[in-house]
Amino acid sequence: MSDIILRVLARDAGVRVQVCIATELAREGARRHGTSPLASAALAYGLTAGALFGGTLKVGQRIALKFAGDGPLEKMVIEADAYGRVRGYVVHPELPSGDRIDAAAVADAIGDGLLTVAKDLRVGDLYHGTIALTGDGPEHDIARYVAQSEQIPSLLRLSVEMDDAGEIAVAGGLHVEVMPGHEAGVLAELAAQLSAMPPLGDMLLAGSSPEEIVDRLLGEIDYLALETRQVAFVCSCSYERSRKALMVLGADDILEMIVEGEAVIDCYFCHERYVFSANELMAILDEMEAE
Ligand SMILES: [Zn+2]
Repeated sequence: MSDIILRVLARDAGVRVQVCIATELAREGARRHGTSPLASAALAYGLTAGALFGGTLKVGQRIALKFAGDGPLEKMVIEADAYGRVRGYVVHPELPSGDRIDAAAVADAIGDGLLTVAKDLRVGDLYHGTIALTGDGPEHDIARYVAQSEQIPSLLRLSVEMDDAGEIAVAGGLHVEVMPGHEAGVLAELAAQLSAMPPLGDMLLAGSSPEEIVDRLLGEIDYLALETRQVAFVCSCSYERSRKALMVLGADDILEMIVEGEAVIDCYFCHERYVFSANELMAILDEMEAE
C-alpha cells in the first residue's frame, strides 16, 4: 500500500481526525540518509509527525519541526507542506543502536532540549513556537506542543515498528483535534476507544487501512471523509537552486572551487548531490561578473 493520509470531519462530535500511513516515507528517509536502525526509527517518528502536521495546513503553507536535544541524536529537522510532501534529516545518521529500538529508545536518543515549530502560513508572518523536550519522545512532545502552543485539545499517536533486520516495518500516525467552539469532552471518549483498540502499530502491521482505523475509532459517530492524499518523501532542492546558492558566494570562493576541479553541493535534507564542473563554475563566475 502506498503512503496516504486520510482526513475526516465528524461535525456533530466536533472533531477532525487524520490517519496516515507513512511506511514508504520513513523507508525513503532511512535509505537516503543511510541511517542506523535507531536513527531510522527516530527519523520515521519525525517524518510521520511531519505528514500529520502537513495535513492540517492550507494550500501553500509549510511547517518545519526541529528537535534539538542533549541525547546522542542531537538534532532532527523535518519539513512538510499541505501537499503531502515531507523531508527531513538527523545530524547523526550513524547513531549507535541498542538492543531495543522503540519509542523509549528514540526518546532517550533525543533527550531533553527544545522542540521548535515554525509555520509559514503565507499571511506575511512566520509563526514560531517552542516548547521544552522532556525526554518522553516525539509523540508526547508534539502532543504537548499542540496543547500548549496552539491551545488545541487533541490526541496524537505515532507508531513506528521495526523488523528483525532493523528496517522500518511500518510507520503511521493518528491525530484527533477538537474543532473551535466544541467541547473537549469527546476526546476522553475517543481516548478510551483508542485504548480498547489494538495498538496502532499492530493494526498497521496487520494491513489495516486508514478508513478501517477511522471506522474503528469513531464507531457510531457520523463522519465525512474530506480527503485522501498521497504522502511521500519529496525534497525541494534542485540543480538550479544549488546554482543560485553558489551565485551568492564570492568570486574568490568560486575561483577556489575551479582550482579544486569541481564543486559538490550535498542537500542536507535528501542527500542529493549536485556536481558543478570547473567549466560550469567558470560560467557561474562569468555571470557573477556580468551582474
Ligand atoms: Zn534535497
